[in-house]
Amino acid sequence: MKYVYLFNDGNKDMRDILGGKGANLAEMSRIGLPVPQGFTVTTDACNKYYEDEEKISIEIKNEIFESLKQFEKMVHKKLGSKGNPLLVSVRSGSPISMPGMMDTILNLGLNDEVAESLAKKTNKRFVYDSYRRLIAMYADVVKGLDIHEFEKVLESFKKKKNTTSDTDLTETDMYKITLKYKEIYEILAHEPFPQNPYEQLIEAIKAVFKSWNNERAVIYRKMNNIPDTLGTAVNVQEMVYGNIGLNSGTGVAFTRNPSTGEKQLYGEYLINAQGEDVVAGIRTPQPIENLKEEMKDVYDEFVKYCEMLENHYKDMQDMEFTIENGKLYMLQTRSGKRTAQAAIKIAVDLVNEKKISKKEALLRVDPNTLDQLLHKTFDNEELKKANIVAKGLAASPGASSGKIYFQASDVIKASKNNEETILVRTETSPEDIEGMSSANGVLTIRGGMTSHAAVVARGMGKCCVSGCEDLIINEKDKTLTTKDGIVFKEGDVISLDGTTGTVYEGEIKKVEPTTSEEFKTFMSWADSIRTLGVRTNAETVNDAMQAKKFGAEGIGLCRTEHMFFSERRIFSIRKMIMSKNDTQRKIALNELLSYQKNDFEQLFRIMDGDTITIRYLDPPLHEFLPKKDSEIKELSKALDMSLDEVKDRINELKEFNPMMGHRGCRLDVTYPEIARMQTRAVIESAINIIREGIKVRPEIMIPLVNDIKEFEYVKSLVDDEAKNVMEEQNVKVDYKVGTMIETPRAAILAYEIASSAQFFSFGTNDLTQLSFGFSRDDASKYINDYLDKNILEYDPFKRLDENGVGKLLDVAVKLGKKARKNLHLGICGEHAGEPNSIYFCHKIGLDYVSCSPYRIPIARLAAAQAAIKARKN
Ligand code: PEP
Ligand code: MG
Repeated sequence: MKYVYLFNDGNKDMRDILGGKGANLAEMSRIGLPVPQGFTVTTDACNKYYEDEEKISIEIKNEIFESLKQFEKMVHKKLGSKGNPLLVSVRSGSPISMPGMMDTILNLGLNDEVAESLAKKTNKRFVYDSYRRLIAMYADVVKGLDIHEFEKVLESFKKKKNTTSDTDLTETDMYKITLKYKEIYEILAHEPFPQNPYEQLIEAIKAVFKSWNNERAVIYRKMNNIPDTLGTAVNVQEMVYGNIGLNSGTGVAFTRNPSTGEKQLYGEYLINAQGEDVVAGIRTPQPIENLKEEMKDVYDEFVKYCEMLENHYKDMQDMEFTIENGKLYMLQTRSGKRTAQAAIKIAVDLVNEKKISKKEALLRVDPNTLDQLLHKTFDNEELKKANIVAKGLAASPGASSGKIYFQASDVIKASKNNEETILVRTETSPEDIEGMSSANGVLTIRGGMTSHAAVVARGMGKCCVSGCEDLIINEKDKTLTTKDGIVFKEGDVISLDGTTGTVYEGEIKKVEPTTSEEFKTFMSWADSIRTLGVRTNAETVNDAMQAKKFGAEGIGLCRTEHMFFSERRIFSIRKMIMSKNDTQRKIALNELLSYQKNDFEQLFRIMDGDTITIRYLDPPLHEFLPKKDSEIKELSKALDMSLDEVKDRINELKEFNPMMGHRGCRLDVTYPEIARMQTRAVIESAINIIREGIKVRPEIMIPLVNDIKEFEYVKSLVDDEAKNVMEEQNVKVDYKVGTMIETPRAAILAYEIASSAQFFSFGTNDLTQLSFGFSRDDASKYINDYLDKNILEYDPFKRLDENGVGKLLDVAVKLGKKARKNLHLGICGEHAGEPNSIYFCHKIGLDYVSCSPYRIPIARLAAAQAAIKARKN
């Protein structure tokens, strides 16, 4: 196996072993862009390092040194040479980009001798600035020493000079700072800073491998479902310097706007700085347009490369560059992270520019990110009245309000208590990602549009205002002070508009978002390609209307017990549950009937001819029994029972395991009048709607069925009562009766059940619960342990467990279709809105998925992607 590749030997299709960065450096070099040369140590070497108990084997070391030799020949420089020293950067790069999560070391190859001789030949200030940076980075990344000790030294020098900018420090200052850094290094590391550049190189490569498993990288992978097994590659590349003087600089740019998708070069740069300075938000950089004025030739050359790269990769690129003494170098290109809004606009524009096909465009957008487009925005009228307290950069779009917190850990704590929060930081660092993920919005005082905060927030689809230098932050006292002297303390509420970069006092009312023309076009492409239908789970008027707006083709699950969650209605359902005899139950059921009829009529009108699958009552008793004394008292009055009688009845009804309790069709077996009442409600309401001239397509769905006899018993009640109503009213209603498949037994006996049931809908919430024997209500307490220990790859309640539960679905589909060729098949568990599970449903031949309203666009796109992928395979 080959563990090391020179850039000249690789290409863009080798990202699995070279990582994204390595593969793209090789590709840029191949197509003739000015890339500083170097080599990549592969992800296989990283995995071998872990196999070998965190050691780099002799074999790999030899390969590294062999490639180094060839690299030195190419650039006519040598590591550690006094005459013509090679200085390198050592950077991580995994197959899936994880910006800022792993470690980097720059200026490697400097030691006392090399620095001294280089200082004589070039610029002393620059050489010692680079050397002190190397010592600090090495201390931090390789040795894990406290970086603040080094920062304190730098701060004290700046204080002496009465400045806040590094650029005011002289060559003598830099030299002295280097000496001081070496001293601190030796004290903290109990050994001097290593002078052997080969030792520096191997230790740095090891440290980058090790950073694959640092806490923030692990959390990032978990949040983004990136497998731990990928490993990172390491890129060793000749240093070029943006900090060599005023004719040098460094920057990052996107070929299109990553917030909006607009086709315009979007980026920023800093003169006389190293790459990390831009990303770390240490100084707020200049917009890229200014480079046109400052260095026209370099700007024009850069624009040319941007076009070349975008045309080559056929996607929006995110690039890093450095200008050394007026010469431009390209240091990185990758497909740029973008908001959902930008992703859609870019995909549609690229199709219109004839660069990609519609299918490719559909595959370019992560369905889950569509969620970002469905969230509310500030009400325009309220916004005009709100008090603006500061203006920063519009780093990541969105509208958020919340209590301010100054530490990621405080945000995490507060959001666990269901508080709406805003994380406020001078600048964020990778340690803050969990806090950023928990917060509603992020506000930073320093840092540009490509700072850590901005890049990460856009990736998360989180509202962010960055570089808000109007505000003074005091992280110690936890206060934020505006130019006008207003002081916000921890817990005070502010609002952020990430689309304009504005910060407001207090909370601002929000309204439903509007969708762009590009979104409509994009979704129409998805709809024309998908073969899976997309229905919604809804039982309220609001949800049904929302779902219809999002493109739902009918209701796939109307949980009738959820229609009784309001205070007044739950009382009626409690009366039914608590009834001691048939008479009492009939009275309670009559109350329920009138509610249900009214609700069904409204849903039929909204769905206007689309199917509604009405699932009969399935109330796990523990969700409906009264708990508070006041509720018990009220019931005792209504049922004419003493308090003690009511309490006794509650005790009698209490179950040890309500999720496996007296619910679903078991209730109809015990109390057939429930199924009769529900049928009357469905058929009577359907008739009323037919009389209004609207088409209705009711499907009656029996929950928690285990056996054909059980199903047929309930079906006979349905058919009999439906017949009664249709005769009474003299109107015929075309209805179907089917079942949920949500117990393993039903899945296995699908052949028998399908002989009588006209459709199946997979209730994968219960099916997962019953297959694993994991309680739906409690499993979250231990599932994380399974994930942490890699026993489970994902939470089976969120993503369908293809291996086990999926097999049951597959078997049920095959057996069901055997018994009834035109058996209609759907899924209505939570998995129906999850893209991987949707792909699986497509593969096994379901007809539709039914998910909650806000997941409808996600499901439409995921279904289109499933159709494209399945065809490809
Ligand atoms: C299911 O079990 O997957 C289902 C949709 O039904 P409920 O969640 O109401 O039990
Ligand atoms: Mg269920």
